[in-house]
Order: sequence, then C-alpha cells, then structure tokens
Amino acid sequence: MTFMSAIPRCAFQVKSNLRSIIDEENCIGCGVCVVACGRKVFRYDYVNKKAKVVYPYNCMVACQTCVNLCPSNAISFQRNEQTEREQIQRLVKDYNIVKKAKKALAEREDEFRLP
Ligand code: SF4
Ligand code: SF4
Repeated sequence: MTFMSAIPRCAFQVKSNLRSIIDEENCIGCGVCVVACGRKVFRYDYVNKKAKVVYPYNCMVACQTCVNLCPSNAISFQRNEQTEREQIQRLVKDYNIVKKAKKALAEREDEFRLP
C-alpha cells in the first residue's frame, strides 16, 4: 500500500471544471437531488429543509441527472475557475500528503536513498 492510496479515488476525479450549485431561494427542499445523485454530491439540511452541495468534486463528468430531475429548476452548473493543479494542490493539503511523504522517506530509507 503506497501513501497515495490513502486518498479516496474520487478525490482525484477533478477533471470536470463544472460543478453543481443550488439556488437556495428556488429550492423547495424535496430531496430528489440528494437521493438521486449516485455520487453523493449533496447532503440534506434537515433543519432548514434544503439540499446542499457538500462534495462537489464527486460530480461525474457529463452527468446532468440532478439538473433534469429538480422540479423547481434550482440546480445549475458553475464553471470552476480553479485549474486542475490548484484543485490537486488543495487535495495535497487536505490529505496531508507532504507529511505522509516525509514519513515514507523516513520509514523506507533503503528504498529511496541515493545510490
Ligand atoms: S431537487 Fe431541486 S428542489 Fe429538490 S432538494 Fe434538490 S435542489 Fe432543492
Ligand atoms: S450532475 Fe450527476 S453526479 Fe453531478 S451532482 Fe448532479 S446527479 Fe450528482
């Protein structure tokens, strides 16, 4: 197991530069998008009875299911202005990759030291 395997595969599915957004005023809180999205991009705010985009980077390229199903036309896509490198760098920070690399260097010195 490499240290990179600690990162969920979905975390690197950032090739799409579009992400779903919800217009909260139009959202009637039906929950269809939450239940229908196979990538679990949404969670449900049970207090305010609204859907929320919580894991936008799980969104599948070319899928439009939530947009098509939403009865109040509250979901649209927003172009993500972050570059792929910026997105990956955010994941590097979130998943402590630098710390894990240092640990791997210390633990596997025989493998990585200069010849
Ligand atoms: S499907 Fe549309 S109206 Fe229903 S919870 Fe999702 S965003 Fe809101
Ligand atoms: S487009 Fe598809 S994968 Fe993306 S949030 Fe909507 S239902 Fe989920």
